[in-house]
Amino acid sequence: MRFLHDTLPQRVRFASGEAAESLGDEVAALGARRVLVIAGAAERALAERVTGGLPVVHLHDEVVMHVPVEVAERARAAAAAHDADVLVSIGGGSTTGLAKAVALTTGLPIVAVPTTYAGSEATPVWGLTEGSAKTTGTDPRVLPRTVVYDAALTLGLPADLSAASGLNAVAHCVDSLWAPRTDPVNQALAAEGVRALRTGLPLVVKEPDALPGREQALYGAYLSALAFASAGSGLHHKICHVLGGMFNLPHAATHAVVLPYVLAFNGAAAPEAEQRLASAFGTPTAGEGLALLRDRLDAPRSLQGLGMPSEGIAAAAEAVVAAAPAGNPRPVTPRAVTELLGEAWEGAEPR
Ligand code: NAD
Repeated sequence: MRFLHDTLPQRVRFASGEAAESLGDEVAALGARRVLVIAGAAERALAERVTGGLPVVHLHDEVVMHVPVEVAERARAAAAAHDADVLVSIGGGSTTGLAKAVALTTGLPIVAVPTTYAGSEATPVWGLTEGSAKTTGTDPRVLPRTVVYDAALTLGLPADLSAASGLNAVAHCVDSLWAPRTDPVNQALAAEGVRALRTGLPLVVKEPDALPGREQALYGAYLSALAFASAGSGLHHKICHVLGGMFNLPHAATHAVVLPYVLAFNGAAAPEAEQRLASAFGTPTAGEGLALLRDRLDAPRSLQGLGMPSEGIAAAAEAVVAAAPAGNPRPVTPRAVTELLGEAWEGAEPR
């Protein structure tokens, strides 16, 4: 065995119902006195509830998916105008993404409180969009110093959003097994992530107001993000990145639709990954485990259903081939990607 693995410097506090207390401790530990809270308008009340004990100078609530540059500029201006010395982000991947955009240019530390299963909080990856072009990069300054997980804050995430977001986390795990920097450590995190997610997510959908499923799902989402941050983007993430950018599709739902097709495509040529996943799902094959989970979550089925035009398949296939990771288990040819996208567009049985 021979591998190179970086472990990122970050503290994680996981305690349901304790976000306010955890935030107080973490902001104090950073020696911060001027907190800029970043939370979308829909999460404002929740954010006010958990930040009541902090020295808040401003709550910035303009959050937009994929962080348009002008939205980032306004958040940076707010941080400067209020002389903030720490950013506390409370929300999903879009909110964490905005905090990262501010940290990227100001160097301010982030304390992240995630309320979905997107996992941005555990990665040093930032993203900004200008028009329809999305730019991403990696910078250690944007990795939150601390993540505060409080599953009670996710109780309000509706079942359908929870399912799509949870499958986004499952996709981080699956794609980590063949991503460019895959190694035995991130593979172990990915396998435990799948186990926690396939246990927790069906409980979340069955009983959205109960904590046990929410805790398993959030724990699994964290592991999935660690695996993804370490292994990098595999074929699945490249496909979703292309589709999201070209057709402005919803992030989590796109992952939920595309994953079974990439698993069917790569799994056949990656027997170790297939075996590891099957064992984590507790089913004879990985494909069966994912299909069973998707059924239990009533997951979105087709790209067509998400609003992608069928005429877009050819251009998307070309962009995917250009972006495909070199070490993918199977050659990523125009024909293979066109077929894969065609099946995902229709919502056909993955072959
Ligand atoms: P999101 O942050 O846009 O949230 C989706 C919806 O859920 C929003 O309407 C939001 O108001 C709502 N919501 C969030 N928390 C809620 C709660 N607890 N209760 C009720 N409603 C709630 O979506 P997302 O899927 O979390 O994040 C997607 C974004 O994150 C994309 O831009 C994606 O590129 C980015 N992302 C980045 C990374 C990274 O490593 N940089 C990783 C994953 C995702």
